[in-house]
Amino acid sequence: MNYLSTRGDTTPRKFCDILLEGLAPDGGLYLPDHYPQADAATLARWRDVHAQQGYAALAFEILSLYIDDIPPADLKALCDKTYTPAVFGTREIVPLKKLHDASTSPARTDFYLEALSNGPTLAFKDMAMQLLGNLFEYELARRGEQLNILGATSGDTGSAAEYAMRGKRGIRVFMLSPHGRMSQFQQAQMFSLQDANIYNIAIEGVFDDCQDIVKAVSNDLAFKRQYRIGTVNSINWARLLAQVVYYFAGYFQATRSNDEQVDFTVPSGNFGNVCAGHVARMMGLPIGRLVVATNENDVLDEFFRTGVYRVRGSADTHETSSPSMDISKASNFERFVFDLLGRDGARCKALFHDALAGQGQFDLSGDAAFAAARDRYGFESGKSTHADRLATIRQVYEQHGVMIDTHTADGVKVAREHARAGVPMIVLETALPIKFAATIREALGRDPDRPARFDGIEDLPRRVQVMGADAQAVKTFVAQNCA
Ligand SMILES: *Cc1c(COP(=O)(O)O)cnc(C)c1O
Repeated sequence: MNYLSTRGDTTPRKFCDILLEGLAPDGGLYLPDHYPQADAATLARWRDVHAQQGYAALAFEILSLYIDDIPPADLKALCDKTYTPAVFGTREIVPLKKLHDASTSPARTDFYLEALSNGPTLAFKDMAMQLLGNLFEYELARRGEQLNILGATSGDTGSAAEYAMRGKRGIRVFMLSPHGRMSQFQQAQMFSLQDANIYNIAIEGVFDDCQDIVKAVSNDLAFKRQYRIGTVNSINWARLLAQVVYYFAGYFQATRSNDEQVDFTVPSGNFGNVCAGHVARMMGLPIGRLVVATNENDVLDEFFRTGVYRVRGSADTHETSSPSMDISKASNFERFVFDLLGRDGARCKALFHDALAGQGQFDLSGDAAFAAARDRYGFESGKSTHADRLATIRQVYEQHGVMIDTHTADGVKVAREHARAGVPMIVLETALPIKFAATIREALGRDPDRPARFDGIEDLPRRVQVMGADAQAVKTFVAQNCA
């Protein structure tokens, strides 16, 4: 399998060539040069593999179609080490919870939550990041190299990255977060890590300030090379690939035969999660619809409704009660648009490089490609408000006794509007409520349930360096700790 860029660079690259990279040299995102097809016989075999050998074995089957430069036995060992009950809490890794919801969804629609949030940091990002940590360690050891990961987080990405990379040989993590702005639980999760290779930097500013610093440091190519600076952001292809697996696992759990269809609803921000669903569908998984759920930051919903993709400025980005979806532009969206345009790299570049830089938007409303988003690729969308999320959290708790977090609530609200009679609807649960306790208290008047292993986490000693929003200070700190 070779990888190419969404902006036209077709230099053949292997999986491990792009594993440690961010953007392609032409500014595009990497994609496989084709999607391997899971035909009827393959799907039947994978259903068996999943039922009999479990999630890790299914992951190996899927990943090995995309990764041919790691020996199969090694890749198998990496999958087995990653997807274990010891890391993800259950034997199923991603169990389905059925919500009987005949009253509010069209009759006879089986309505499920797919639990993706039982990993170390209680958000779905662990599903990909845990694999990435093991892949990075493996590949760096093979090359005899080191990597210093520099990242910015509003909460979930940073903790998932730190818990995936802690104690790994050859890797340090420098994670910037906006001082005092993450939830108490998120701060405790990150700052209580005592591993010597994890560095928390709390920036006196907002998330955008953190991201600007990461950009400024990465744009200093001499510094980047000297200190081997890398990233783990959501444009990394390996992260997206890891996420493809749970669409298959969810499908096999919700159906009895591969003749059935299911729909998925995905609480979305940077379009990484739902893009993995698109890849699964392109491989032949019988997904009917992929419903993109957004909060008040509705740049994606607007595109799927109107054909206009209009990125927002930081002043127009709302701070919401589902903060991991508070985005001004969706960094993985270019991958989908590349497919939508029939993989025309020149056109994709004209939209994402020229039009977005010039006008801050592009308009596909009059284009046949836009109609294909729905007709051919199955995309639908919707959005929720804070009041919707509160009402949904309350209703799901009262009716089903299940406590959901604010992001998952956004998904449930939008999924109900798109549920189809006779087609199972699977909503991806992207975090557990304990991460967003203040909103749960607002909705339910009580504290969220807390997994026992997190008892007292707020009282642990903390390792964090507070700094002004100053790229030079961050560089000095990185240089000192890499000496
Ligand atoms: C990251 C995140 C999302 C958004 O996922 P994308 O892949 O960026 O679309 C949604 N919910 C939670 C809880 C997250 O952490």
